[in-house]
Amino acid sequence: MHKTTASPTPTHCPYCALQCGMGLAPDPGRDGGLAVVERAFPVNRGALCGKGRTATEVLSSRVRLTEPLIRTHATGKLEPATWEEALDRIAEGLSRTRAEHGPDAVGVFGGGGLTNEKAYGLGKFARVVLGTSQIDYNGRFCMSSAAAAHQRAFGLDRGLPFPLEDIPRTGCVILVGSNLAETMPPALRYLTELRENGGRLIVVDPRRTRTAEQADLHLAPRPGTDLALALGLLHLVVAEGRTDEAFIGERTSGWEEARAGAMAHWPELVERITGVSVPELREAVRLFCAPEHAMVLTARGPEQQSKGTDTVGAWINLVLATGRAGRPLSGYGCLTGQGNGQGGREHGQKADQLPGYRKLTDPAARAHVAGVWGVDPESLPGPGRSAYELLDALGGDVKSLLLMGSNPVVSAPRAAHIEGRLRSLDFLAVADVVLSETAELADVVLPVTQWAEETGTTTNLEGRVLLRRRAITPPAGVRTDLFVLHELAARLGVEKGFPTDPEEVFEELRRASAGGPADYSGITYRRLAEEDGVFWPCPAEAASGDGGGDGEDSALDAAPDDPAAELAGEPSAERLGNSAAELAGGRVEFASTSAHPGTPRLFLDRFATEDGRARFVPVTHRAAAEEPDAEYPVLLTTGRVVAQYQSGTQTRRVAELNAAAPGPFVELHPQLAERIGVADGEEVTVVSRRGTAVAPAKVTRSIRPDTVFMPFHWAGEGRANTLTHPALDPVSRMPEFKVCAVRLERTAPA
Ligand code: SF4
Repeated sequence: MHKTTASPTPTHCPYCALQCGMGLAPDPGRDGGLAVVERAFPVNRGALCGKGRTATEVLSSRVRLTEPLIRTHATGKLEPATWEEALDRIAEGLSRTRAEHGPDAVGVFGGGGLTNEKAYGLGKFARVVLGTSQIDYNGRFCMSSAAAAHQRAFGLDRGLPFPLEDIPRTGCVILVGSNLAETMPPALRYLTELRENGGRLIVVDPRRTRTAEQADLHLAPRPGTDLALALGLLHLVVAEGRTDEAFIGERTSGWEEARAGAMAHWPELVERITGVSVPELREAVRLFCAPEHAMVLTARGPEQQSKGTDTVGAWINLVLATGRAGRPLSGYGCLTGQGNGQGGREHGQKADQLPGYRKLTDPAARAHVAGVWGVDPESLPGPGRSAYELLDALGGDVKSLLLMGSNPVVSAPRAAHIEGRLRSLDFLAVADVVLSETAELADVVLPVTQWAEETGTTTNLEGRVLLRRRAITPPAGVRTDLFVLHELAARLGVEKGFPTDPEEVFEELRRASAGGPADYSGITYRRLAEEDGVFWPCPAEAASGDGGGDGEDSALDAAPDDPAAELAGEPSAERLGNSAAELAGGRVEFASTSAHPGTPRLFLDRFATEDGRARFVPVTHRAAAEEPDAEYPVLLTTGRVVAQYQSGTQTRRVAELNAAAPGPFVELHPQLAERIGVADGEEVTVVSRRGTAVAPAKVTRSIRPDTVFMPFHWAGEGRANTLTHPALDPVSRMPEFKVCAVRLERTAPA
């Protein structure tokens, strides 16, 4: 990472939900290029992982798309075209499907990496211009189970209902199914500081990951049994008299049913289900219950299961029973994965939601949003299908698809089947920065701008809304996603309502979100520029003359004269009002003006349910959709490696990252390797009922002998998602990425 005295543009990494702060400055070594420079931002304090450090490489990648492509009848290949031709062709394709089969025959698929403005625009485009209910996004594959469990228990979903900086000051953290050391390395310091401060760390993961190595206690349950593990811990909490009866009585409902469910999961039974021993269970309860404050944090491990919502609910029940929610330095939180995974689910690209995290089925919400959009509430379609169900319907009753910011050929479960569904479409249009594996299948591909070439907002895993600023002129030939929506809307008969200026879109988003659960109405570009982030809900508009609001100067125009001074600033502690004294009183005071300060900590007074009480939800263990048997005797779990991000669309184009993580592998225990006769580095074939993947074996004792692990970032014969199971959680509609049954074969003849 470069250090420079030039005036870098303060912005944020384009990748994961940590949204690390960084600066971008002209790169003296590359004419017209950008270099990443350090900047003080409270979340990452200047630290970046390799993905963030190299993020500017994708801007000037030689495989960058810089002109639209249209598949020609003559050659059947994608050929260069003008923007007019490409947009006309998309409008014609979508119109024809709509005319022949009705609006719901047109699907829209978004992404958790799209900015808030794009997510908002895409949802509005689907419902107002296309009139289709068939819209969802790849964030459904990320944190939807945690979001559903959050809603069910607390009445509101914000990944972390407290800032990350609370983590080092709590007494114990149970980290369930998260490998922070690989997925968001700068966040590992929160756990390191926790332990330096005398706090304890329990990591739950079937693999002894680099994160698990940091733990005081590592529990390695069999994949798919996290729910039983949480129930077993709650059983012991009750049996050992460690419940917080005052908290349960004053601030929760539904305890008796949840308690009864836990008491049916006695420790010896849980040991048999999970493989975690009774002494380990007792030690976990002792570590978790001893301090005054404690947290449970989950990630994709427990969430990407066909019982993900109940699994997260079981961990929330543990938090509630011990009185560790709605209090400072305690609580349950989800470590959302995608860059705008949080904001992406708040502003209307989800099948069942309207902007402001409003429910699409709520008449008042429909009336409010329709009012902002200037349409009849009756004209808004109802909820559509979830992401996997939508992809599975392609070529069936969904004939055409517009896709932005997603690569389901790599990232969807049962990926070969989904690839086939995409191929069977009458018409597919994809907007992306490079020719992803999904874009390769399209009839029209639009080359669009990316992070540093455009301005927009994201919302990180803490619910902190951030401003990503344009720092470089995009290549000639590319356009923004907002331009695409504007032009397509006009071609489809809607001349107004789709501005290309992101701040104008954000102003409308503020009005649409006003009064909703995720209320952004008090947040402006100016505030984001000046305060370096504001936590939602932020319902109050700034007082007159305090910045923001219609008619104010653009925040970009109003950015500090000396961005370098801003980069060097220390924005965290006073702004969040996080002194120990304030926290001890359960209140956070802000040294702020009359503007609403934003809400770093939720639920301190009441939960967001109708009666203000958190809800216990009774849950019971159930088996994974596919358990091992004689034919498929091994469990497969999938995940990430530090040098790649999601489907790898961007990171596989970065030389340094590719060198560090050039391809997939199959991690397996020496006992299993010996059984199938494969040595470390030799190719191994993994077979499930959905297909076959081939990758080199990585033999290690850090994984259970009954389980293999594959990272899912690659296409081709090593595509892990060829193998994964599409069984869906009944509440969140999350597919079961984290567990299925496979068999292993030696690829080369013995
Ligand atoms: Fe930070 Fe995530 Fe970017 Fe790495 S990928 S620099 S952890 S935001």
